[in-house]
Amino acid sequence: MTPGRPVPPPLAKPITVEHPPSVATNLAAAYGATSPGSGLVPLTVLRREPKDDDVEIGIEFCGLCHSDVHATRGEWRIPPYPLVPGHEIVGKVTRVGAAVTEFAPGDRVGVGCMVDSCRECDSCLDGLEQYCERGNVGTYGAPDPRNGDAITQGGYSTSVVVDRRFVLRIPDALDPAAAAPLLCAGITTYSPLRYFEVEEGDAVGVVGLGGLGHMAVKIAKAMGAEVTVFTTSETKFQAARELGADHVVLSTDPEAMDAAGRSIDVIIDTVAAPHDLNPYFRTLRLEGALFQLGLPAEDMPPVSPGLLIRRRLAYAGSLIGGIHETQEMLDFCAGHGVASDIEVVDASRLNEAYDRMVAGDVKYRFVLDTATLHQPSERADA
Ligand code: NAP
Ligand code: ZN
Ligand code: ZN
Repeated sequence: MTPGRPVPPPLAKPITVEHPPSVATNLAAAYGATSPGSGLVPLTVLRREPKDDDVEIGIEFCGLCHSDVHATRGEWRIPPYPLVPGHEIVGKVTRVGAAVTEFAPGDRVGVGCMVDSCRECDSCLDGLEQYCERGNVGTYGAPDPRNGDAITQGGYSTSVVVDRRFVLRIPDALDPAAAAPLLCAGITTYSPLRYFEVEEGDAVGVVGLGGLGHMAVKIAKAMGAEVTVFTTSETKFQAARELGADHVVLSTDPEAMDAAGRSIDVIIDTVAAPHDLNPYFRTLRLEGALFQLGLPAEDMPPVSPGLLIRRRLAYAGSLIGGIHETQEMLDFCAGHGVASDIEVVDASRLNEAYDRMVAGDVKYRFVLDTATLHQPSERADA
């Protein structure tokens, strides 16, 4: 044990991660899943000793993304368990490796959905690490080739060690807890809006007013767009307007959908469940585009080719954003006073928060206060 370093709590359920025994002091308290049905339980993660290019971060806050629910419950595939989710990480640098000059202890930093990529394919060289031809290294549940294929573990924990190339700078103007969701929900919606070159006067549609959706509204408004929210929840009408939406449409009402026909240039679809896209394509103008961001566990109903052809519409996907673009988004948000509307939760409420997220009952992002991971009463239940 290194003198002066905090003594971690006793192991609840140890995670087996291959590391040299000499680094066994780098223990982080965490919450994660041990099987698809386990829910989130206290765990302990062994973080690597920072290498030359590494930044060690004491995590303060981590957002709860719907992808965390899909992943921990094994809805996309059965992941390697135990699995500590969390890819909306904000904290302060605690140590840096010898080659790190851009970050210093005390700096406020963030980590999003990736912690590495091959760094040499065309995508990586273009700053599109999320589309790395060999696959980016996800922040959790991914083998990490530069670290002996150890499975990465995410941000529902007290610390993490990440290569400096995948660490973002959190501008001082942003509240750290409200900034955490920008690392996934923010960049995932910013990237397609930028790709479509949204500007003043463009009409943007946002489908689903959850974590991603509310960020899409705020960012599109900050870009000068006229924003229409399509929601299944009548209860969210007023809130959508408070977020800045110019129009709100109840997507389950066919007449309201008809009335919105040919009014939108680009749609950002964030729905986490299978749904029929054809009514949304009807709301697009000539040469409009629909970006599919939600990744439901089940197949979606087919899209009518005629709808696409008759208005030269594009149906596109989009995956988070590159590291350079993520920094650009953080600076954009700081400059425009944009952050997430959050509800901070203790570790003891993570499972309840997941259930509320699935029920659509969150305004609009839960953020875990990682200080509560240390609460002894929680760990005793493990
Ligand atoms: P979320 O906070 O749960 O929001 C999803 C919203 O979709 C809900 O608030 C709800 O809005 C709407 N919805 C309508 N029908 C639904 C249903 N049957 N079940 C669930 N939601 C329904 O989720 P999120 O964190 O924003 O994530 C949304 C999706 O994006 C997830 O599938 C996630 O995995 C995916 N994602 C993709 C990327 C990417 O890179 N492409 C990145 C992050 C997340 P209304 O009440 O307004 O209808
Ligand atoms: Zn996410
Ligand atoms: Zn690559």
